[in-house]
Amino acid sequence: MIVFFDFDDTLFDRNKFISALAGRMGLSRDEFLETYTRYFKDKKRPYSCEKHLETLKRQDRWTDVDSFLQDLSDFVHPEAHNLIRKYKTRADRAILLSYGEENFQKIKIQASGLAGYFDEVIVTQDKVAVLKHLISEKEKAIFINDKEEENKEVKRILSNIEVVDVF
Ligand SMILES: [Mg+2]
Repeated sequence: MIVFFDFDDTLFDRNKFISALAGRMGLSRDEFLETYTRYFKDKKRPYSCEKHLETLKRQDRWTDVDSFLQDLSDFVHPEAHNLIRKYKTRADRAILLSYGEENFQKIKIQASGLAGYFDEVIVTQDKVAVLKHLISEKEKAIFINDKEEENKEVKRILSNIEVVDVF
């Protein structure tokens, strides 16, 4: 049996993290999201906070932001460790399956302190495609995820996967 965990809003409080990060960068949450969208979203270049600050001519913030990004364990949901342990004991393999920009997600995952639980960490733009590819028809799998729409799609497409909704 394989168990897949989503990262943002399943194990990690993304909202709280974005607000805190914006603050460290000297931005409001809206300014952060607006400039992220304008300069980085769906662009070819990988996102980094350093480049984001450079673009906004706020390089003076980088030392503080860099040290902030070293330890993001404060943003891990209080129940995340228990949730992972509970399902891991039943599984042969545990995979962290995260949607997003690869460079940034890997920094968050590493600094969350959760990476060590998993046999593999996959960052993708299409979770359903990865699940389809990795799960064989005979194998049992569990997918633990917060996004209702995604969960519905997974249930519809993959019959041998048990979906656990985390809201
Ligand atoms: Mg999520």
